[in-house]
This record gives sequence, C-alpha cells and structure tokens, in this order.
Amino acid sequence: MADSFDVVVIGGGPGGYVAALRAAQLGAKTAVVERDRVGGTCLVRGCIPTKALLQSAELYTLAKAGAPFGVVADKIGVDWAAALGRKTEVVDKLVKGVEGLLKAGGVALARSTSQASASRPRTS
Ligand SMILES: Cc1cc2nc3c(=O)[nH]c(=O)nc-3n(C[C@H](O)[C@H](O)[C@H](O)COP(=O)(O)OP(=O)(O)OC[C@H]3O[C@@H](n4cnc5c(N)ncnc54)[C@H](O)[C@@H]3O)c2cc1C
Repeated sequence: MADSFDVVVIGGGPGGYVAALRAAQLGAKTAVVERDRVGGTCLVRGCIPTKALLQSAELYTLAKAGAPFGVVADKIGVDWAAALGRKTEVVDKLVKGVEGLLKAGGVALARSTSQASASRPRTS
C-alpha cells in the first residue's frame, strides 16, 4: 500500500466505505483504515446479522402457525447451529461485496487500528 493519500478514512462501516468510494470517484487517492472487517457494525454485528437471525425466527413462527392454512409439519424445531451458520454466510458474502466495491473503486484498504493526530500551529 502506498504511504501517501489525498483522503484517508478511518473506519470501513457504511459511513466510511461510502465516503471513501465517493472521494475516489471524485479523483482523490483514497484509503480506508479498518481495524476489524469492512462493513462495520451494520454488516458485521448489527443490521445484517440481526435480520438474518430474525428471518430464521419468522420462518419458525410461521411454520408453527401453519395448520389453519393447511401447512402441517411435524417436529418443528430450531437448529441453532444452522441458523448461526447461515447468518455467518450472509455476513461473509456482504463483507466480500464491500471489499470488492473498494477494490473496483480503486480504494486501498489497510487493516489496522488508526490514530489521528494534529499539531497546533506555533503562536510564538
Ligand atoms: C444490533 C444493531 C442493529 C442495527 N440495525 C440497523 C438497521 O436495521 N438499520 C439501520 O439503518 N441501522 C441499523 N443499525 C445501526 C447501524 O449499524 C449504524 O447506523 C451504522 O453501522 C453506522 O455506520 P458507521 O459507518 O457510522 O459506523 P460503524 O458501522 O460502527 O463503523 C465504524 C467502523 O470503524 C472501525 N473503527 C473504529 N475506530 C477505528 C480505528 N481507530 N481504526 C480503525 N478502524 C476503526 C470499526 O471497526 C467499524 O468497522 C443497527 C445497529 C445495531 C448495533
């Protein structure tokens, strides 16, 4: 990775990766520094994993209530390992998608914990 950029975005969540892609589209040499996985809270721990698990819960609830609709299934249960496995697959696919977007957009990605610092101009 080159050591000089016009724009360096700290954090590859939805705020960060979208800002980085836009900066690159506008012609800035851009990098994202992410300490975990790109996609941030939303893709890795928040919106996406919760919705994937909610879908499992919804299917279970619908299946249990299917008899009046003529849908009868015996021994409906929850396979927690499978639900978690599917959730992980969905998250991994979307994280790879964001990595692909950054690459296609010419945004460099560094996996590291970043620290920003600024020096005050001398007044005397
Ligand atoms: C359980 C849950 C469910 C949610 N569901 C929804 C939903 O359904 N719909 C919705 O719109 N929103 C939802 N949200 C909110 C959504 O996740 C956030 O609004 C969104 O992730 C904010 O994006 P962000 O880029 O600002 O921050 P984040 O997604 O938190 O990204 C910040 C990134 O910066 C990285 N980072 C931080 N400090 C450093 C550092 N010093 N160096 C390097 N990297 C660093 C972090 O690792 C992280 O990847 C949910 C949140 C949670 C917790």
